[in-house]
Amino acid sequence: MSHSSQSMVESPSMEKDLTLADSPAYRRNIENFDNAAKVLNLDSNIARRLRQPERILIVSVPVRMDDGTVNVYTGYRVQHNDSLGPYKGGIRFHEEVDLGEVSALAMSMTWTCAVMGLPLGGGKGAVKVDPFRLSRRELQNLTRRYTAEILPIIGPNTDVPAPDMGTNEQTMAWIVDTFSQRLGHFAPAIVTGKPVEVGGSVLRSEATGRGVVYTIEEAANEIGLNLKGATYVLHGFGNVGTFAAQEMTKRGAKLIAVADVSGGYVNKSGFDVHQLFEHVRRNRTLEGIAAERVPALDVLTVPCDVLIPAATGHVIDSNNAPKIKCKIMAEGANGPTMPEADVILERNGVFTIPDIVCNAGGVTVSYFEWVQGGMHFFWNEEEIDTRLQAIIRKGYRGARAFAKDHNVPTRIAALCVGISRVDKAMRLRGLYA
Ligand code: NAD
Repeated sequence: MSHSSQSMVESPSMEKDLTLADSPAYRRNIENFDNAAKVLNLDSNIARRLRQPERILIVSVPVRMDDGTVNVYTGYRVQHNDSLGPYKGGIRFHEEVDLGEVSALAMSMTWTCAVMGLPLGGGKGAVKVDPFRLSRRELQNLTRRYTAEILPIIGPNTDVPAPDMGTNEQTMAWIVDTFSQRLGHFAPAIVTGKPVEVGGSVLRSEATGRGVVYTIEEAANEIGLNLKGATYVLHGFGNVGTFAAQEMTKRGAKLIAVADVSGGYVNKSGFDVHQLFEHVRRNRTLEGIAAERVPALDVLTVPCDVLIPAATGHVIDSNNAPKIKCKIMAEGANGPTMPEADVILERNGVFTIPDIVCNAGGVTVSYFEWVQGGMHFFWNEEEIDTRLQAIIRKGYRGARAFAKDHNVPTRIAALCVGISRVDKAMRLRGLYA
């Protein structure tokens, strides 16, 4: 049975009640979802259910600051779909985050897990805060209180958070401790992306950046691009960006422009990536590196072979898309490209690796961490890397095969593969009434 998007929009929905549709990130995801649903001729009942999250929790997070005052931050946990397994998705600390974006990110996690064939669903959490303005103690207070507020809906078998923008291994360790204090015993399975010392997996930190480069390798093979000597540009130099840079360096590629929250930096003769790591380790940002300074967004239009957005969402739109001159655009970040930009990039022959495939390495190793924690038996680096490559290359090839068979862009193809797996599971499970 086919559906018209008109009838779906008019039905009463969480989407309308919570004005999710006002968010560009949510609108982008819905537009892509509707396009994929059309290709699949998806049942309208299933489509209506999948267009909105299953559960949204909004919490207020009071935090005692170092000067004795109390600040109150807004936090979210959104659970999109758990038809294939427990909700899974990171926690973001960012001052510009809103409910629409968290809901979009939760939805993307459903498709990422499904397209990779992982037995997990999609969720996402966030706190609207600039973590760089908080001291370590304030950040710990914020993390612990946010964890306490969302504890009623998360758990090792229900919803397992992980790091995302603005959070890291340390944040996950504080969450483990908060949950363990509540239970009265060590309970690391509440999150993935933990330090190895408290039950984490080797290679989890590296996983997203590595996965990005494994998919770039696949794409480069398809278009006949040699990564040795290829130029690339990074928008974002945090967890995903730095480990992607490490892998690109191993393959002999040259970083010619990079941006982070402090701005954009161009060096046409190529940066020494190791020096950049050291600079950021010491100073937290790229501020002060020797290079030509440009606004952060301008690095996206520096001509290169491979462009890797690895920071915030919706940075590529109809304004800058015509100026993007790259062969491959690999979405390390979630949702960097707006649908109208997709059309322009496609027309200009840019080979796009969509986020739900490109950045799936993180959740794949998070899945391994969850499995290893359950067995209390841990794999070594080689075992993890072999398994990661097997899953991410298979996911990539599955999406590309669908794209070729149905003559649709890889983004829509990847969504179709993911959505059809969730659709099958929903039909088999039936509707609880
Ligand atoms: P991070 O916090 O470690 O790093 C973010 C980087 O982006 C930093 O260099 C920061 O300075 C920069 N940045 C922030 N705001 C910016 C702006 N306005 N302009 C330019 N740069 C800016 O975050 P991360 O974990 O590397 O995540 C980056 C992206 O990758 C996000 O979209 C996230 O959802 C996605 N992602 C992360 C993972 C993961 O495992 N960490 C997995 C999948 C997807």
